Order: sequence, then structure tokens, then C-alpha cells
Amino acid sequence: MSENLKIVEIEEIKSETPTIKTLYFDWGEKFKPGQFVMVWIPGLDEIPMAISNDGLDFITVKNRGEATKRLHEIERGTKLGIRGPYGNGYKLKGEKLLIITGGCGGASMIELVRTAEEVDKTIVTCLGGETEKELLYRDRFSDLTDLKVSTDDGSAGHHGFVTELAEKVVEKERIDSVYTCGPEIMMKKVVDMCLKKDIPVQASLERYMKCGIGICDSCTIDGKQVCVDGPVFFGRELKDMAEFGKYERTKEGLKVKKS
Ligand SMILES: Cc1cc2nc3c(=O)[nH]c(=O)nc-3n(C[C@H](O)[C@H](O)[C@H](O)COP(=O)(O)OP(=O)(O)OC[C@H]3O[C@@H](n4cnc5c(N)ncnc54)[C@H](O)[C@@H]3O)c2cc1C
Repeated sequence: MSENLKIVEIEEIKSETPTIKTLYFDWGEKFKPGQFVMVWIPGLDEIPMAISNDGLDFITVKNRGEATKRLHEIERGTKLGIRGPYGNGYKLKGEKLLIITGGCGGASMIELVRTAEEVDKTIVTCLGGETEKELLYRDRFSDLTDLKVSTDDGSAGHHGFVTELAEKVVEKERIDSVYTCGPEIMMKKVVDMCLKKDIPVQASLERYMKCGIGICDSCTIDGKQVCVDGPVFFGRELKDMAEFGKYERTKEGLKVKKS
């Protein structure tokens, strides 16, 4: 087990959406927006999660499979192992920032928004979800940023994809920097749009991870390791990654077409 593993106790649990929960704990380590931690669920698994802080440290978890289902079932007082922080994090560039996020991607974005707001950046957020109930951190984003929302079913905001909403914003407003995290198909569209319009863009990638520290190579993408070279990549790097938006790796390391 890693030497920087710390055992923490879950102090608060918040239901964010029908499929997403936030777990609060006192970890006490310094980290940068966009970095992640490896969360050890004793006896089960260790998985990567974005880390944030709003007085207490927290992770926000989408219920997807065995490990995340367990994190949704735990109660206050449960102990988990946390090691990190790992990865490079976002670079704050320019004065007017556009955040484009969907699904559980906001988990990686909220710390960026909090720190950017502290240094008086102007922030526009385009937040997408399948339905109104699945819009993650709607209130937090609307408190800290100029928020625009979209839903796939039209239950709130723009009826359609969040990328359509974002295109309207970049056509109307001068944006210095774009940040994106969410489903990879969404991030691919965002990166393509930014490359076309010559706007600097950073995207946080998700790949299956085991060690989080560059040893196992599970999270490789076009020769880069998401855990140490990323998880945040600039548009100019992603432009040359043939696997981005098209392929992923299974737990066994097989390269397969993204579903
Ligand atoms: C740097 C980083 C930060 C992350 N931050 C968060 C976060 O803040 N909140 C959050 O909910 N999730 C986050 N994830 C994804 C999270 O780690 C996976 O959803 C989790 O490991 C799934 O574990 P499981 O056992 O529940 O599901 P599994 O049974 O392992 O898988 C369930 C489904 O999710 C897919 N999946 C599993 N792991 C990944 C992965 N790493 N990337 C993409 N798809 C995956 C599988 O292909 C499968 O379809 C992050 C991933 C990375 C790499």
C-alpha cells in the first residue's frame, strides 16, 4: 500500500441527483483543481475520483459499477483510504473562462470554478444532463458563474446537447479559455470546436486506472499515461491522439471501440 495512504471517515453524505452522491471527509492535504485521488474501499477496489473542497474535502460519485455502487451504499462514519493527490490539474489561463460539462464531469470542474472565482475570473458554464434531475451542481454553478443549462429530454434549458449551447456562447462572446469534463464524445466535440475557432481548451480524460502513479500503464492513450501525463490535456495534445473519442481500454488492457 502506498506510503501516502490516509484513512478518512465519511462525515456527511449528500444526494446530488438520482445517480450521483457527494461524500465529505477531512483529508487535509493540498491539491490543485483537476487533480484526483485513489479511493480505497477496503476489501473491494481502489478507484480514481476527482477531489474538491468547500470547507471539508469531498468526492462526488456516479453509481456505475461495483465500487461506485458500494460508495453509494456507505453511511456516515464509514472509513475509506485516500491516496494522492495525483495528476497534473487544470492551468488557469485568461480572464473569461467557459466551462462545458455534462454527466458527472462537474465533479472535476467545481474546484476549478471555486478557485477561478476567488481570483475574479469571469466564468460562463454550459451544464448538460439527460434530464433536469441529472444536472449536477446546478445551484453551485449558478451561484458562482453565468450558468446555461441543456437537457437531452428538454425538461430544462436548451433541448439538446450541451455542445450546441456552447457553440452559441463562443459565437456571441469572446472566450479566452475553455475547460471540459464529461462523456468523451462530448469532450471530443468541444475540443474539435475549439481547435477550429482557435480557442485554448483543456479536457480531463477518464481511463481505467489501477495504480494512479504511472506504473501499470492501464490508462495509456496514444503513448501517454492519463494518471501522470494527465488527466488534463490541452487541445493541441488531443489533436494528435487517434484514440481520443474513439477507443478505450478494458480492465484487461484491450483496446476497444468506445461504446
Ligand atoms: C482521473 C479520474 C477521475 C475520475 N473522477 C471521477 C469522479 O469524480 N466521479 C466519478 O463518479 N467517477 C470518476 N471517475 C470514474 C470512476 O473512477 C469510474 O467510474 C469507477 O472507477 C468505476 O468503478 P466501478 O467499479 O463502480 O465500475 P466498473 O464495474 O469498473 O465499471 C462500470 C462502467 O464504468 C466504466 N468505467 C470504469 N472505470 C472507468 C474509467 N476510469 N473511465 C471511464 N469509464 C470507466 C466501465 O467501462 C463500465 O462500463 C474518474 C476517473 C478518472 C480516471
